[in-house]
Amino acid sequence: MPESHRDATRRRWLETLEQYRRHADTPGSDAYWAPALDTASRDELIAIQNAKLAALVPFLYENSPFYRRRFERLGLLPTDIKTVDDLPKWPVVDKAEMVEDALAHPPYGTYTTMDEGIWAKRGWMMFSSSGTTGAPRVFRYSQIDRDYWAWANARGLRAMGIGKGDTVFMITGYGPHVWAWGVQFALAKMEVPVIPGGGMDARARAQIIQRFHPTVICCTPSYALYLGRVLRDMGVDPGEMAVQTLFIAGEPAMGITHTRARLEKLWQARIVEFYGCTEASPHVGGYSCAASVGKDGSVTTHLLEDVQVWELVDAETRAPVKRGERGLTVCTCLNSESSPQLRFLVGDYTAFDDHVCACGRTHVRAVGAFTGRADDLINLRGIKMYPSQIEEGVRGVSGIGDEYEIVLSTDPSGLAIMTIRVEHPDHEVPDAVAARVAEEVRTQCEVRIGIEVLPPGMLPKTEFKAKRVRDIRSKS
Ligand SMILES: [Zn+2]
Repeated sequence: MPESHRDATRRRWLETLEQYRRHADTPGSDAYWAPALDTASRDELIAIQNAKLAALVPFLYENSPFYRRRFERLGLLPTDIKTVDDLPKWPVVDKAEMVEDALAHPPYGTYTTMDEGIWAKRGWMMFSSSGTTGAPRVFRYSQIDRDYWAWANARGLRAMGIGKGDTVFMITGYGPHVWAWGVQFALAKMEVPVIPGGGMDARARAQIIQRFHPTVICCTPSYALYLGRVLRDMGVDPGEMAVQTLFIAGEPAMGITHTRARLEKLWQARIVEFYGCTEASPHVGGYSCAASVGKDGSVTTHLLEDVQVWELVDAETRAPVKRGERGLTVCTCLNSESSPQLRFLVGDYTAFDDHVCACGRTHVRAVGAFTGRADDLINLRGIKMYPSQIEEGVRGVSGIGDEYEIVLSTDPSGLAIMTIRVEHPDHEVPDAVAARVAEEVRTQCEVRIGIEVLPPGMLPKTEFKAKRVRDIRSKS
């Protein structure tokens, strides 16, 4: 029987993925996991992206019902998208469109390229979106995906300077979140020692740090601050522990200067982070490198370009912005069998710099790293701001505790107001502290706010992903 279009496009896609993978299992050098890819010229990177796109687009058309319907609705054929220059013909796919598909076709939606027969043959693992906004959605990835995923993450980890000689303490619940598992798979590939840190309290984790001397801890920035304070309360200086690297995830930290400074000072360690999203790139999209923090304090994050195409689009028109201008991140994932994506709107504001980095990597860098999804934007009487801007203001005031809360409410006259609740030893004479926080926040986002100063220890301690914003505005 002749091979069907569905099978032929799948075979070609998998062959193309393999053709452009270098150093699948062992690193090519000390500095780079895949030197020829990590330091490829821009022309070479674009040639790889084009070759992958030419195999991907027919594969999606033949195998993903979601993509097939979209091609038909737009009046496009696979031959219309052959190179990265053709990508703008394909309107970005946003989260709302994927949610609509998942609701119409529960429980998984139809974006995947796998039918149940292929899933059963490959084996799979299920994950869910973090659910910051909207209901959590589930995603399956095949064993083939996991292998490409471990390879991509190994490249990111190597860029961050994590490898042989390190012991990594994974402080995560090992729930269905892509980040922790992806890092775990990569560390296994890299033969780096790992201590799993799920299912224990902060004191037990602090004791592991004292007894087994991990050099890297992986957790949210909120948790790294909390754990450092717990060690201090036990009479131990976190800065004197073996921890040299804080591998931060779940919340932005690299791009928030005062949060980064607090972490660096508390632990006497450097901060590195991954960037990505469950939908478009379950493995690393962005990663820190040795040159991520410039001498002037500026911060950049690389994006892995031979396995993804990263673009920035205007928030309103969703048209590509000019190089160097700020826009929202869009990812085309070229590194998965089950869920490659064409132009998924990840939705973080940044600007790109494609000059060669001091670390030798050529892959584009996000200037200022990432400081929050457009979805998380707070709108107060038409003034728009990110929680990270408020965090920058709050954590810039010395003596303020690590925890804080942003409360959006409605005053008796019907006006929407914002109150920031912070902790400070001077809570009984709060005026000076409140004025300093208000001034710092006004510098960051030009908004007037109320400040409530509480005694230290009043706000709940953050164990994992922090919920900083409480919106109790009346809806009328
Ligand atoms: Zn670099």
